[in-house]
Amino acid sequence: REEMNIIQGALELRTKTVEDVMTKVEDCFMLPSDAVLDFNTMSSIMESGYTRIPVYENERSNIVDILYVKDLAFVDPDDCTTLNTITRFYSHPVHFVFSDTKLDAVLEEFKKGKSHLAIVQKVNSEGEGDPFYEVLGLVTLEDVIEEIIKSEILDE
Ligand code: ADP
Repeated sequence: REEMNIIQGALELRTKTVEDVMTKVEDCFMLPSDAVLDFNTMSSIMESGYTRIPVYENERSNIVDILYVKDLAFVDPDDCTTLNTITRFYSHPVHFVFSDTKLDAVLEEFKKGKSHLAIVQKVNSEGEGDPFYEVLGLVTLEDVIEEIIKSEILDE
């Protein structure tokens, strides 16, 4: 029965981690902070269909901002504005979670409001150098809800 599945899904929030449900960094649609918001860039953002887009500096593992597609409402592609002009203006906070965070804990964070998207990271202490934060992907409220209802939510 459907209800049993949902209860099962809800119980599993205590054992599953964000790493189990996140969108992997290589599959994330992200933009470099020095991207120029010309017609091509704006079109690719619209075509991606995402409402929030991580913005990185120099490398994809260095996420510095989140662009909300609605921030583009007053941008004229002919002005060739740089992305960081826009992200600096709106300055949405970037939320991070560790990859081993349990889903019930992120759900509590998402319920507090602020943002329904978090960047998933882990401390990488492999190799010679100093340990560093490694970005593994992103997780949204939708990923957690899908885990509860155990089926894909199809986007409009
Ligand atoms: P949206 O409102 O942009 O559709 P959702 O929060 O509904 O985003 O998430 C839908 C799915 O898309 C989730 O699996 C989430 O991990 C993934 N997702 C959200 N933003 C991005 C992005 N910028 N790049 C890749 N995947 C994303």
